[in-house]
Formats: sequence, C-alpha cells, structure tokens
Amino acid sequence: MKRIAVFSIPAHGHTNPMLPVVSELVKHGNKVRFYSFDEFGEKIRATGADFISCNEFLGKVTEQEEKRLKKVSTTEMSIQDLRITVNMNDFLEKEFADFKPDVVYTDSVCFWGKLNALKHKVPMVVSTSTFAFNQLSSQYMKHSAAELADMIFGLPKISKELKKLEPYGYKVKGVLSLVQSDNNTDSVVYATKKFQPYSEVFSEHYAFVGPSVYTDKLPDKKKERPLVYISMGTVINNRPDFYKKCIEALKDMQADVVISCGKAVNPEDFGELPQNISVYPYVNQLEILSKTDVFITHCGMNSVSESLYMATPMVLYPQTGEQFAVARRAAELGAGVMLKDDSAKEISKAVSEILNNSRYSESAEECSEDFRNASGTTGAADFIESAPHDATGKDIIVELNKANGKFQLFYWLVVIVLIILFCIFIGVKYSWIVGATAGIISTPLGKYVQGKNYQKLTGIK
Ligand code: UDP
Repeated sequence: MKRIAVFSIPAHGHTNPMLPVVSELVKHGNKVRFYSFDEFGEKIRATGADFISCNEFLGKVTEQEEKRLKKVSTTEMSIQDLRITVNMNDFLEKEFADFKPDVVYTDSVCFWGKLNALKHKVPMVVSTSTFAFNQLSSQYMKHSAAELADMIFGLPKISKELKKLEPYGYKVKGVLSLVQSDNNTDSVVYATKKFQPYSEVFSEHYAFVGPSVYTDKLPDKKKERPLVYISMGTVINNRPDFYKKCIEALKDMQADVVISCGKAVNPEDFGELPQNISVYPYVNQLEILSKTDVFITHCGMNSVSESLYMATPMVLYPQTGEQFAVARRAAELGAGVMLKDDSAKEISKAVSEILNNSRYSESAEECSEDFRNASGTTGAADFIESAPHDATGKDIIVELNKANGKFQLFYWLVVIVLIILFCIFIGVKYSWIVGATAGIISTPLGKYVQGKNYQKLTGIK
C-alpha cells in the first residue's frame, strides 16, 4: 500500500484521463488524496480517492484575464498556474508533512504538483494528457500567428511570475523546463507507441499506456443509416457559426447527425432543425462514438483517442497547435481527413470521402485494436506504484543533439575558411555572399543531417 498524492489543473481534458487510473490505484489498496477543484469533486469521490478541495487558492482573475483564459492563452494559463503555486505553498507544506506521500502523480502542466514533488523530494509521475512533446514530436504542432505572438510577447510576463517562486524554495530554470517532456521524468502518456509521434526517442521513463477510458463498450456500427457526430470539445466550443455550416452541409445527406454544441450555445438558437439532425449541449460521447461512422472533431487528445478506441474515422478540424499535432498524427495513420476549410461544401466533401472509402474505417479499426491491447489503466497504476524508474540504454535525444552540435561546428568552420579564401582570392567586397548563402542553406541542410542522424540512431527510415 502506498500513499499517493494526485494533482491536476481545473480542466476536464487534463483531469478526465487521470480518473480511471486513480480508481485503479484505489482498487489496488493505495491511500490516494486527489487535490483538485469543486467542479470535479463528485467525479473524484466516485473513484474512491479522498477529494481535497483547492478552490480557495484559485485567486481572483480580472475580466481581461478571464477572456484570455477562455481563448486558451498559453501565457495566461502559465501565469495563473504560477500564482496558484504561490497561493498553495503554505497549505501544501502542511499537507506534505501530514500525508507524507510516497509518490506524487501530477498533471504535466500542474506546476504546484510538479514543483512540490521536487521540493519535497517525493518520486513523481507526470500525467501527460496529450502527446509527450519533446524537440522532435513538437514539430508536429502548427501554431497560429496569434498563438506564436502570445507565446513570444508573454515570456517576460512569465519570467516575472517565475521570480516570485524563488523565496518559497522552488527551483525553476524556465517555463519550458516545466512543461516540456524530458527523458528523465517518469511519465504516463495516454497514447500507444504506435500513436505517439517519435515514440522511439522516449526513454524507459515513459509508460505509453493507451487511452484512459472508463468503458468496456465495443464498437457497434450496424444500423440502417450512417451516423455523423460533431463536437468541438468542452473548451473552445462556442462556435454556432460552425455548427450552422455543419447543419447546412449535412441536412440533405442520407445520414443521421448528432451535434454536441457545448453549454455556451443554446440548441434552440438553430431554429427548426432538419429531420435528420439533433443538437444537444452535452452528450455521452463514448456511447455515441461506439455507433458513429464519421466524427467531425476539434481534435482534442481525448476526443481523438476515444474516436480511435471506438474505431471511428474522423474529419479533423484542429483549433490549436497541440490539436493540430493530434490531427496530423491521426491523418498520418489513415484514420481521418483534414478539413481544408470550414465551408459547408468542404464539410460535406470530407464526410462523403470517409463514408465512401472503407480505408478510413479500416485504419481506425487497426488503431482501435492497438488501443485495446495497450496496458491501459492497470499499466498506468502499476507504473505509478513502482516509481521511481530507471532507464537503461542511450538517450537518443542527447545523442542526436551531440551529433547535431558536431555538424554545426564543422559546417561553420568550413564557412569561415571559405570566407577567408574568398577574401584572399576574389576580394573582401563580395565575401558577404558566402556568409549569406551559408546562412540560407544552414537550416534545410541541418534538418537533412538531423534526419540522417535520426535514421542512424533509431534504424527507422
Ligand atoms: N465530452 C463529452 N460529451 C460532450 C463533449 C465532450 O463527454 O458532449 C468529453 C469527451 O468525451 C472528452 C472531453 O469531453 O473526454 C473533451 O476532451 P478533449 O481533450 O477532446 O477536448 P477539450 O474539451 O479539452 O478541448
């Protein structure tokens, strides 16, 4: 029996995958305390863990901050995360002294969970609710200009907040070190090795356990007409414009359509609906997905994982950089079609493409089988109970960086020699041409060499 302290941020997408694991940890006879927020209290108590409410530490947010949080601003979320860490310091000092956890199981962006485990030197297992993102897998993301601007201009504000942690004994190099997946931290990832991009470069500190779902339900697609299900998740789902386009696109199709429009949109605002379409604020998604033939999704990690678990191919409509990575991987595995634009014409085209080509559902079935064979919640619970873990073998990321460093050194030495020779034999006036050309080709050449080194180190083409 172990004493396990669990931490998550106030977000469904981060809390949900931890719940079946916590339930399993309780079943194994461990004493589990889950530090979270009132809106999740009921779900947490249902796992059998002790729910410890942390609502009083959330602090007040201004209207502007609230707006930025709703838009999923990385800067604002990091700032609030750091403020809550400070607010919770005294409380968690007492909790760690009183509960004396053997292991901390914390969401990967829950700074107070991670920083307190490190400060109190308690073995920590990180719960990664999306893909594990390191320098390679993060290349799957594609951020919008607004997201990039938010991250770049937000850095000084985050650094200011980070400084406030120092007096409390928290040591942080930078916010990236707090959120990026490294090869030395024990981590549970709710994806299989097949689904996780570049899974071969992650060390034995990673447990790829497959999606964390609460159901034993099997896909059952037998029915008279195809079923199309549409959801934009629980965060950025206030999109009446998009739901209207879906209604327009699918109203004449020989298919039934269910839309989960989120609690911010009133289903009555759509007026009289075509006979084949129904709209609800919230549905039992797993239940619906088990029967669905095409899922139009915003590509949240949970939604896509649940869809593949239920062997349902998807029309992929990602809204954030992270969702783009999930969408790209699902498309790569052949289980979805990326939506080119969100016009009614394209929506209808993408849905028809999936309904008329069995290869998408076949690929989704392969993923479903792979997910069902994963170690799942039992694997995750075993991994948490037996932390800390050791990793043997070479760290491929370290090796890759070493090889890359050597190449860069060699490349720029050659460039310097070329510039000198150019100056001697042709003239100083035009030597900048060599420098500029070297600068332009350095990035594609660097990428090419990195690709070759990657193949050499992993044996994967
Ligand atoms: N969900 C649900 N019913 C709905 C809409 C969403 O049960 O009507 C659940 C869905 O099953 C998933 C979660 O909400 O587990 C959404 O998480 P995801 O990571 O896909 O997206 P987010 O809401 O975090 O953007």
